[in-house]
Amino acid sequence: MTENGAILRTSEDAILRVCDVRKSYRSGGGMLEVLRGVDFTLEPGGFAAVIGQSGSGKSTLLHLMGLLDAPDSGEVHLQGTRIDNLPAARRDRLRNTAIGMVFQSYHLLPEFNALENVLAPLLVRHGVMEWMRVRASARERAQGLLERFGLGERLHHKPRQLSGGEMQRVAIARALVTQPSVLLADEPTGNLDEASGAGILDAICELNQRDGLSIVLVTHDAAIARRAARIVRLAAGRVADA
Ligand code: ADP
Ligand code: MG
Repeated sequence: MTENGAILRTSEDAILRVCDVRKSYRSGGGMLEVLRGVDFTLEPGGFAAVIGQSGSGKSTLLHLMGLLDAPDSGEVHLQGTRIDNLPAARRDRLRNTAIGMVFQSYHLLPEFNALENVLAPLLVRHGVMEWMRVRASARERAQGLLERFGLGERLHHKPRQLSGGEMQRVAIARALVTQPSVLLADEPTGNLDEASGAGILDAICELNQRDGLSIVLVTHDAAIARRAARIVRLAAGRVADA
């Protein structure tokens, strides 16, 4: 405690912290060491691009940050709390509340329309009875996000009725509807033509610059990475000088 009673926070001021993380995969008869001691910190409101050649472990690192996989050793901390070793139910809960993820493929539910896809994380979070109580406000939030991303006229379109750029904007809205502390994006423009990709990138940059959202953006494209405030380069399983 300081004199005025505030609790001293040191490294816990980071939104996301990765400490000496290692990850190997079994490959043929041996082990493929993908991450060999990676350290990374994202400050609140930070915007970091993770860059590196194909196969350098960018997706592996993002999956560890997003709790889709666990490191062999090392630690992942979210807002000062170690999260990589939590029981599965608590990790699922964090992924539904504090961590938003977007991928190269959109992973939308084909039978759900855009609005329903965005609502899905909230539907999963609340039981059926509670859902009846929160449904109206959840719908308002989901619709507001879709409108923000230019999809106000597409609320009831199914994914197959949307363009790639539109599907990715639905996916971003779905990642944000839970009001996460950090957005993790893995090659989010990778499947898009240049114009659609530029729109998605602009939207992501605006989330950081206008809304102060903390973002990690994985890309193999140096031009895309330059849009971030900071570039972290992965090479030989470690963070190299950018
Ligand atoms: P990047 O995203 O930088 O292209 P990845 O993190 O996807 O790289 O993969 C890094 C390396 O690990 C690659 O050589 C890939 O083939 C391998 N790899 C990734 N996931 C697995 C897995 N589940 N099992 C085995 N090998 C994997
Ligand atoms: Mg990848």
